[in-house]
Amino acid sequence: MSEPSNPQAPGQRLVTNPLLGERVVQTPGRMNRHEGAAACPFCADIDAGRWPDGQQTWARPNDFPALRPPLGECYVLLYAREHDLPFAQLGTERVAAVVDLWQQIYLDLSARYACVMTFENSGDAIGQTQHHPHGQTYGVAFLPPTIERELAHAQATYAETGECLFCQTLAGEINGPRVVIDTAHWLGFIPQWARYPYEVQLYPRRHVSNIGALPRGGEEAHELAQALIRLVGAYNAVYQAPMPYMLALHQLADEHYHFHIELLPVGRAPGKLKFAASSESAFGLWLNDAVPEIKAAELRNAMAGG
Ligand SMILES: [Zn+2]
Ligand SMILES: [Zn+2]
Repeated sequence: MSEPSNPQAPGQRLVTNPLLGERVVQTPGRMNRHEGAAACPFCADIDAGRWPDGQQTWARPNDFPALRPPLGECYVLLYAREHDLPFAQLGTERVAAVVDLWQQIYLDLSARYACVMTFENSGDAIGQTQHHPHGQTYGVAFLPPTIERELAHAQATYAETGECLFCQTLAGEINGPRVVIDTAHWLGFIPQWARYPYEVQLYPRRHVSNIGALPRGGEEAHELAQALIRLVGAYNAVYQAPMPYMLALHQLADEHYHFHIELLPVGRAPGKLKFAASSESAFGLWLNDAVPEIKAAELRNAMAGG
């Protein structure tokens, strides 16, 4: 999909940093979003009859979108009608409904946008402003910098070897010391290059480029729901509290790309957080206070009930 020739929309700017060749979006309208509001806007949607009847999940237009057409569209992905229901307690069937919502929104937005960024910020420490269980999705008219770089490396690998870079990575991790979760259709591991102590990448074993390529309601989608519940449960166990984390679906409509989910938990030990501070934010040099093999064993142990 080509990029808009004049990629500006009212109230926002898309700027390219010439020093890094990286895009930045400026949206001053978001400064005063719902933060600190006494009532939950999503519970208010239920009370006012706006939340469609009979639907547990709902892709709701974001009242304070970071991107507007033609640059993008933003939705809040509501996971459940109940206000106080943490992800780890949703249960498999309801997380499967969340996975289905991720698939639905991908199929909808990928018809109009170059990239579908689906993600979740969980926990006050990571800037979650609403406590109703939810994630978010942005349909974006351009490739976000990280996705652009991953695609470039995947294309270079394909040109050189005729193989998928992600499939190669996956093959190198199977039965290895960094594996955290191992199911018929998914492999979750702490990457060798982990930035956060408990960072996990979850890959479908089959080469698919986006979540829209998985059959809806199928075994892969169901197993994904189970894997996510187990991972978040293990995070809460090692952190001895609800682990603040970011979750991101990396996906594209490009056959050289391989769908994967990145889980970036910001807790590094009970009560201690990993901040993207000067080394990370100002220099782009990540310092991880742990090695992946040790932390993978901890997560495996937490899942085994130890
Ligand atoms: Zn609510
Ligand atoms: Zn692949």
